[in-house]
Amino acid sequence: MLYSEYNPQNNSVLPNFYGLIYSEVEDYLLQHSFSKYVVIQLFNWVYKKQLREHDKWSNISKKLRVQLKIDFDFSLPQIIETRHSCDGTIKFLLQMKDNEKVEAVLIPSEDRLTLCISTQVGCAMRCTFCFTGTKGFIRNLKCHEIVGEYLAINEWYNQYAQETGRLPGGPTQTLITNIVYMGQGEPLNNFQEVKRATLLLLDPQGIAFGQRKITLSTVGIIPMLLKMGEFPPINIAISLHSPRDHVRDQLIPINRTFPLAQLFAAIEKIPLKAHRRITYEYLLIEGLTNTAEDLVALKKLISPERSKINLIPYNEFPGATYKRPTDEKVLQFCNQLGEMGYTCTVRRSKGSDILAACGQLRG
Ligand code: SAH
Repeated sequence: MLYSEYNPQNNSVLPNFYGLIYSEVEDYLLQHSFSKYVVIQLFNWVYKKQLREHDKWSNISKKLRVQLKIDFDFSLPQIIETRHSCDGTIKFLLQMKDNEKVEAVLIPSEDRLTLCISTQVGCAMRCTFCFTGTKGFIRNLKCHEIVGEYLAINEWYNQYAQETGRLPGGPTQTLITNIVYMGQGEPLNNFQEVKRATLLLLDPQGIAFGQRKITLSTVGIIPMLLKMGEFPPINIAISLHSPRDHVRDQLIPINRTFPLAQLFAAIEKIPLKAHRRITYEYLLIEGLTNTAEDLVALKKLISPERSKINLIPYNEFPGATYKRPTDEKVLQFCNQLGEMGYTCTVRRSKGSDILAACGQLRG
């Protein structure tokens, strides 16, 4: 719910502050006869310093602090469980106000700390290789819940890092360097709220991520891909997984609605900023997606200049039916793509011992 939609007469739930983008906070301030420039200070406290105690906002008038408390909910999703993997990955279970739960994963590597967040409770895509999908779709997350995943985990992490002595820069230093929409859900099926959350994550007065530090991953919902011009220009990853319709139909049922030819026609129309490429996520399943035929079909579909291929060796989960290829075969497939001119990387799976790897999340 946005502030503008909020009617105190018939609704006792306050709108959440993290659901408002910059210009909407300006509007709110003007409506209440405050200077709209106060938004800069507010964003500084709330998003840059991440201090949620209103009485510490020293350069905000008492009148406004009181008004904000009356008008908005400043609470975040609650972290109700954390699990630490031996490779440094940390999985979070977050609970929303209505008790629905989603997962997010913090993934450290040499030069970055990536936060993988969810955009829906459950997922409607029913991909046959994905554990997350077995739960079905419950509901979309709101902008404040998506941004809230980041804020809650960042707050948790700052404290954790301080306690364990891993954060040199003090409590206000943000160490999360990248965000990926690769948790539960299909982000393009929640276009407006994910867009809104992205605007907040990018806002230079607020959380201030760079455009290239955020990646949206999608199975390829064509009508929404055609609207990507309305979306902030972040990185886009397409969960391709197979370049052959009859195989992709089996893996990603929505491929029957949006087959490869149509999907690639839509991808062609995505406005990409100079030098930027689309990433194709490609699940390696033994005997199904790592064959010689796949290499031939990939060549017809994807141009090496405009793309990157990210190979994901299939992560097995309890009850999984597909098989993961051996490491040698993974490397071989990657090398073959390299010889064909593709930029190709293998995703080193993280957190599989705590079921936090790709496709293993399930609230
Ligand atoms: N719905 C979006 C966002 C989720 S991203 C999308 O599909 O792109 C999650 C990524 O993990 C996707 O690329 C998905 O295909 C991949 N994935 C799902 N299950 C997996 C599994 N068992 N092993 C490896 N990768 C998997």
